[in-house]
Amino acid sequence: MTTPESLPVERSSELMTRAERHIPGGVNSPVRAFRSVGGEPRFLQRGSGCHVWDADGNRYIDMVSSWGPLILGHAHPDVLRAACAQAELGTTFGAPTALEVTLAEEVCRAVPSVQMLRLVSSGTEATMSAIRVARGFTGRNRIVKFAGCYHGHADCLLAAAGSGVASLGLPDSAGVPPAAVADTLTLPYNDIGAAEKLFKAEGGRIACVIVEPVAGNMGLVPPQSGFLEALRRLTATAGALLIFDEVISGFRVGLGGAQGEFGIAPDISTFGKILGGGFPLGAYGGRRDVMEQVAPLGPVYQAGTLSGNPVATAAGIETLRQLRNGGGALYARLNGLAAGLAAALRAGAKEAGLPVYVSQYQSMLTVFFTDQDAVPDYDAASRCDRARFGRWFHHLLDHGVYWPPSQFETAFVSAAMTPDDISMVAENAALAFHAAAG
Ligand code: PLP
Repeated sequence: MTTPESLPVERSSELMTRAERHIPGGVNSPVRAFRSVGGEPRFLQRGSGCHVWDADGNRYIDMVSSWGPLILGHAHPDVLRAACAQAELGTTFGAPTALEVTLAEEVCRAVPSVQMLRLVSSGTEATMSAIRVARGFTGRNRIVKFAGCYHGHADCLLAAAGSGVASLGLPDSAGVPPAAVADTLTLPYNDIGAAEKLFKAEGGRIACVIVEPVAGNMGLVPPQSGFLEALRRLTATAGALLIFDEVISGFRVGLGGAQGEFGIAPDISTFGKILGGGFPLGAYGGRRDVMEQVAPLGPVYQAGTLSGNPVATAAGIETLRQLRNGGGALYARLNGLAAGLAAALRAGAKEAGLPVYVSQYQSMLTVFFTDQDAVPDYDAASRCDRARFGRWFHHLLDHGVYWPPSQFETAFVSAAMTPDDISMVAENAALAFHAAAG
């Protein structure tokens, strides 16, 4: 794949050479390595508002937002102040703090299905723990997930996962024993009939269904009408639990998450990303009787040295406070910017004569390089033209737009963006469509 490199990238290149000596693939999370788009990653040094600067001093508009957390943009002054003030008081205690109480209260208020909440340090920890709780609560082993949904890298969830796993073309991972996924049943996203059929055959053995209520890890795939409702009905009837993995959608598609937007109450929800305001923090929570299973109240063990870390918690509280104060107007502005960008992307691709499907929901969007008129599931997403996506991506990058480096990821609009920033992205994307068409 050709990768036009008119921006100076010597420093990033040197760093990559050094990184590859001591860090697998030079990165600490696979998708950062640009393997699915070719070329070398930029080493980022600084972020402010909606911009990032790399080690060579190049500036980009950041559509990655650290893969979702930075809904307020980089280095938001109030979030920084809250984190720094707490760091001055101590960075970790391994004992309860008032901050954890405040954050739990904030989340329970924003997401009414969550009556009790446990803080952890990542989204992976949140989903892994939620599955354990569901199994402990129901006394059943089987879990159901959807192809293309990524829920972090716990063994039992690394079956037909999306995100970096999809880009690497690994349906699974080496090192996951077959026994670890033997009880993981995978269904196509948005396929109500397939879910009904599975529940008819296996319903009594299923502990839980885990789903991204707005899927962001096979590119953006929103739920079709009736899909989440069907999952709610099927799980309730079978005595299984419904887990909404809101690690991306939580506080992103609205303060109440996807469940608030679609009006469906899951039994357990998982959070991460925005919850920590740019610091490592995750959480799982839900029905009181379910969460009462968690140690020390109940028999399901789960613990963490840095769980509820005070600096991350302080940043999370301030982020949620900003979102709550911004209210509907803040979300409406974000969603309006994203809708405008989606329309401009569609027009730009049409003008270049390039078939694309632009998926947009609230402030999330993906440009699928495909002539299909819908992308409802992982099968459809995986039929996209990844080489063309790679050319488009590199053209954008070379013109100051940092788009997620994979066809199977979602771009995020942040509150730090202005209509001018969105126009700049749209104009460069239009040129990139021409470059990608060639
Ligand atoms: N769940 C979803 C929906 C995610 O998108 C991710 C990460 O991208 C995770 C869980 C795992 O979160 P983390 O990377 O913080 O472990």
